[in-house]
Amino acid sequence: MQYYSTNHKTSPVSFKEAVIKGLPDDNGLFMPERIPELPKSFFSSLHKLSLAEIGYNVAESFVDEDIPGSALYKLIEDTMNFDIPVQEVEKDTYALELFHGPTLAFKDVGARFLARCLSHFSGGEAKKVTVLVATSGDTGSAVAHGFLGVENVDVVILYPKGKVSKLQEQQLTTLGQNITALEIDGTFDDCQRMVKSAFLDKELNNRMQLTSANSINMARLIPQSFYYFWAKAQLPDHDLVFSVPSGNYGNLTAGLLAKKMGLDIKGFIASSNINDVVPNYLASGKFSPTASKQTISNAMDVGNPSNFYRMLDLYENDWDKITEEIKGYSFNDDETREAMKAVYGLTGYTLDPHGAVGYLGLKNYLKDHQATGIFLETAHPAKFKDVVDEVIGNVDVPERLAQYMDKEKKSIEMESEFEELKKFLIKGKS
Ligand SMILES: *Cc1c(COP(=O)(O)O)cnc(C)c1O
Repeated sequence: MQYYSTNHKTSPVSFKEAVIKGLPDDNGLFMPERIPELPKSFFSSLHKLSLAEIGYNVAESFVDEDIPGSALYKLIEDTMNFDIPVQEVEKDTYALELFHGPTLAFKDVGARFLARCLSHFSGGEAKKVTVLVATSGDTGSAVAHGFLGVENVDVVILYPKGKVSKLQEQQLTTLGQNITALEIDGTFDDCQRMVKSAFLDKELNNRMQLTSANSINMARLIPQSFYYFWAKAQLPDHDLVFSVPSGNYGNLTAGLLAKKMGLDIKGFIASSNINDVVPNYLASGKFSPTASKQTISNAMDVGNPSNFYRMLDLYENDWDKITEEIKGYSFNDDETREAMKAVYGLTGYTLDPHGAVGYLGLKNYLKDHQATGIFLETAHPAKFKDVVDEVIGNVDVPERLAQYMDKEKKSIEMESEFEELKKFLIKGKS
């Protein structure tokens, strides 16, 4: 399988190259040259398969010969070592709980798969891979955990000093092993600029194999398709719509891939907070990226979502086709809080602010459509304890989250200068 750039200014590459490079040189996004349709026999036996078996069938043709079958199966089994339950919240309304992994958010799925792919690719080669990632909080911890203890891979995380929550910082700085946290005296934008400079620096790239664990890496996208099949396997006789609380639109794009592979999905709902460029596009046909606005569902505060360009590509830029399959709704923080409160009051189910936006989108859709709805619950409510406590009272913090608070923080402080980062990387590798 070859991967082309959505900008079409570079030659197609293999899965391996797409994963290691992360981004094509022409600044587009990698896309598979075709979306393989899965055989009828796969769909008729879906309910009998484990999550890893489903994942293997889905990933096989995307990965192709770059990872041999038995290694791929093991890698997926190891990635998906936690459950993804489908939980009934109300009649015809289900939560797909994606937060049972190590960092309690769905990003664990993509980050763990990517980590294991990179490790596989660097096996047997002299050069280790160094993953550089800038984080404003959550992505960094999913990536760090995804790579923790993975062979042949070092991870260097840059985060802005004093600008992530205490819990997030503990999740980034207490892991040790192959994970190093750099505490940058600057903003998230500074961290991102430093990382970008590193990828563009010829000398650095000659000396070491640098890679990004960015959310737009194909190896993060593909495994996010697995759980759409998995959800269908739990509710085989239902006409399903998926409501996806969205920021960078990776999760939603993975759902579109699943549908193109032949999964029977009636439609998708793009649910956003007030960062509503995609719902606006769906309503008007015009895409107007803007600066992001801060909300209580902060992992979705994205003003120019990267994966939107993949969505356009999948539908050949045809607005009529896109709007046939995807409806969009946006909600403000007050509406989000009200939904959290109402659902908790009526059912006892605790929504996190992101899941609450997904729930709201679904409810809006179901007002005038007949379907069974699944909204993606993308994070455990305890990850957003401040908001959840304020809205519905004290949320229990699971042990695997609480444990970070007692561990010793280890970080390296650094000025927000690329030359400092470069010195550090070269010194560390010599
Ligand atoms: C990243 C994230 C989202 C947004 O997902 P996209 O794939 O970027 O649209 C939603 N909820 C949570 C909790 C997240 O961490």
